[in-house]
Amino acid sequence: MNERNACVIGMQWGDEGKGKIIDLLSEDFDIVVRTQGGSNAGHTVVVDKEKFVLHLIPSGILREQVTCVIGNGVVVDPEQLTEEMAGLRERNIEIPGRLLISDRAQVVMPYHKALDGAKEKALGDRKIGTTLRGIGPAYTEKVARTGIRMCDLIDPQVCRARLETQIPLVNAVLQNVYSEPPVDAAKTIDWAIRCGSELKPMVADAALFINEAVRSGQTVLFEGAQGSLLDIDFGTYPYNTSSNSSVGGMITGSGLPPREMGRVIGVLKAYITRVGAGPFPTEQDDETGAELRKRGDEFGATTGRPRRCGWFDAVAARYSAMINGVDELAITKLDVLQGLDPLKICVAYEIDGRRVESFPAQAEQLAAAQPVYEEMPGWHGDTAQGESLADLCPEAVAYVRRLCDLTGAPAKVISIGSGRDQTLVG
Ligand code: GDP
Repeated sequence: MNERNACVIGMQWGDEGKGKIIDLLSEDFDIVVRTQGGSNAGHTVVVDKEKFVLHLIPSGILREQVTCVIGNGVVVDPEQLTEEMAGLRERNIEIPGRLLISDRAQVVMPYHKALDGAKEKALGDRKIGTTLRGIGPAYTEKVARTGIRMCDLIDPQVCRARLETQIPLVNAVLQNVYSEPPVDAAKTIDWAIRCGSELKPMVADAALFINEAVRSGQTVLFEGAQGSLLDIDFGTYPYNTSSNSSVGGMITGSGLPPREMGRVIGVLKAYITRVGAGPFPTEQDDETGAELRKRGDEFGATTGRPRRCGWFDAVAARYSAMINGVDELAITKLDVLQGLDPLKICVAYEIDGRRVESFPAQAEQLAAAQPVYEEMPGWHGDTAQGESLADLCPEAVAYVRRLCDLTGAPAKVISIGSGRDQTLVG
């Protein structure tokens, strides 16, 4: 392992507060790399009371010394990226020379969004609850080997030729399978070539860049998007995202070999939330859930959708710790629990009358799981300030320690507010 590098992974269903943790850690890194997902991610970072929401650009962009990389595993929506860059520029964040896009990254085309919407509509009650940003269809085409990559987008001739083959196939699906209108081929090709020429200065061989940087002694922080329970292989299939949001995606999505990957920092919210459809054993679809949503401001950074909220699920946390090899935890939003008494933690599931301590593969099994709770006393003292965990009241300390024991990793960072300074060491 290269101890100088680090991976930040979401351990739940996303929205764990990774943006804040990455922003904090990136102070000490040279390069921050996004390796999967697309503009369906939404990382919120608060700097000096100013709020930044990043979808595609790594959160490291807010630190002047950091070079950001969008790795080959990401699906890039050129419009979203251009918009995000313009937004940052307006707020005096310098981009030129600080953002690199892998020439192997896939492009999200306008027709991917059309396919996303059409498929969700056709699924009706069984829809996944996607962000409708075309992420699933873009990954589908990647695997089907019909995708457009950044290296194609910036080459007008190749771009045109590929799209001339691809668009009629997409239109056949839109019209004949979903009864939706076709996309305009000429307009789409013009759009793609224009986007390619705008983004060309930033497109490079990112795997080569990262490997050479590491060889020359630079440090790399990997920025996870979504959460491990949304992973295409390990998540609650089919209610998950279309990429590997657990640690493996950081290897295949960057081109940096496993021996260079650093320690794995797992981000866990002190309770749990989920956006979109899918099983959620500890969901509190009642006053407790509404209270958590209100206190934690649990509304999606990308879609504004209210997040489903529930008690901490230690079965899921242990599973995430296992598949990611989590070395240390960053526990976020502890302040949100202040005043809730008692607190509940799910330590096991009961499925068909049997106690289960591992995370089931099948969504139907997970939907049938009854949480086995243990209760802990809550606290009423202030949890929004301090420097180390020991500065908090004994009940809050005991709660954090219990989460660590159940998850099987130590907490190195405890977050008690969205600001950079509202952070404790474990
Ligand atoms: P991400 O996608 O994992 O980065 O998470 P989001 O950005 O969607 O959600 C985290 C939200 O919680 C953001 O609005 C953060 O500013 C906020 N946040 C992060 N850490 C804390 C914390 O410790 N306490 C509170 N109250 N808010 C936090």
